[in-house]
Amino acid sequence: MSSPVAHSLTGYLIYRLTVRQDETDRWPPLWAYIAMANFPDIDIVFGLLQNTPFQYHHESIANSIGMTLAFTLLAWGCARVFPNGLRWRRAWLFSALYGTHVLMDFFGAGRAVPILWPLDAHPYINPLGVMPGFVKNHASNAAFLASLMHVWNGVVVLIECAVLLPAIYLAERWRGRRLLEAPPTRPGRKE
Ligand SMILES: [Zn+2]
Repeated sequence: MSSPVAHSLTGYLIYRLTVRQDETDRWPPLWAYIAMANFPDIDIVFGLLQNTPFQYHHESIANSIGMTLAFTLLAWGCARVFPNGLRWRRAWLFSALYGTHVLMDFFGAGRAVPILWPLDAHPYINPLGVMPGFVKNHASNAAFLASLMHVWNGVVVLIECAVLLPAIYLAERWRGRRLLEAPPTRPGRKE
């Protein structure tokens, strides 16, 4: 499991790697990228509604390759209504945003996810536990929210930032170099 901070930074990284400055008006806004990068955690809401915060978290099919493909197809279908030739790239991005969340949860420590659904509904987790886990109390919503304040959770978020912020820095440098190298766009040119 990774924190919403890690998933949001990953969404930001993918946005900066895939959207050029001159086409931001033709792509979904940054907040949509960050929302999609966090979307597989939607199953926590069903537990929160029953005061059992982790009853369904990561055990639902939201964290699977099958749902990644389903959302990609849905995105492709929605993107078809925009006649700007970017529909396949947008659909591919939904795979990247949704799929990286599933992979990060699989490679992180914590709960197993049914990553191979619908081929196999069994939950799996990387046995090596690449990332340290969070301190969480599942007894009730109040206990869960209180446990999030544990100092260890702050340390884990700092470790996540130590991994992702350098990647964002490198992406920004690459982006800056591409801007310098890019030839001036011809007025009126459309993709
Ligand atoms: Zn997750």
